[in-house]
Amino acid sequence: MPRRPQPRFPEPNTQPYWEAVKDGRLTYQRCNDCNAVVFTPKFHCAACSSENLSWHDSSGAGTIYTYSVVRQNRNPVFSDLGAYVVAYVDLDEGFRMMTNIVGIANPLTDVHCGQRVQVQFEVQESGDYPIPVFAPV
Ligand SMILES: [Zn+2]
Repeated sequence: MPRRPQPRFPEPNTQPYWEAVKDGRLTYQRCNDCNAVVFTPKFHCAACSSENLSWHDSSGAGTIYTYSVVRQNRNPVFSDLGAYVVAYVDLDEGFRMMTNIVGIANPLTDVHCGQRVQVQFEVQESGDYPIPVFAPV
């Protein structure tokens, strides 16, 4: 079972995001003043600086914008993974997140830009908060 680092609380910007992840929901924020999509979680809108933000559930569906294959990572937390994919995924709601692509046999050949993916929540041995990762659909 994966044992990735866990979020540390209190952390007022991201705690609502992580509590939603714990419930199996991927969330993002939207500015109630200018309608901009805000991600990663913030206290203010990156477009207009308004603090009038609301939380929304993402469908978890998205498209791989770009990716890279990490062939070896000596950090003990990641060393068991072997080769793995780090990707930017564009969610259908209009935000981009860095994540991993899982559920593939060969990370060198089974991933491509433009590929449709769906979020999964990877349970961690290291704590109560799963990590959102994505698998091809
Ligand atoms: Zn705004």
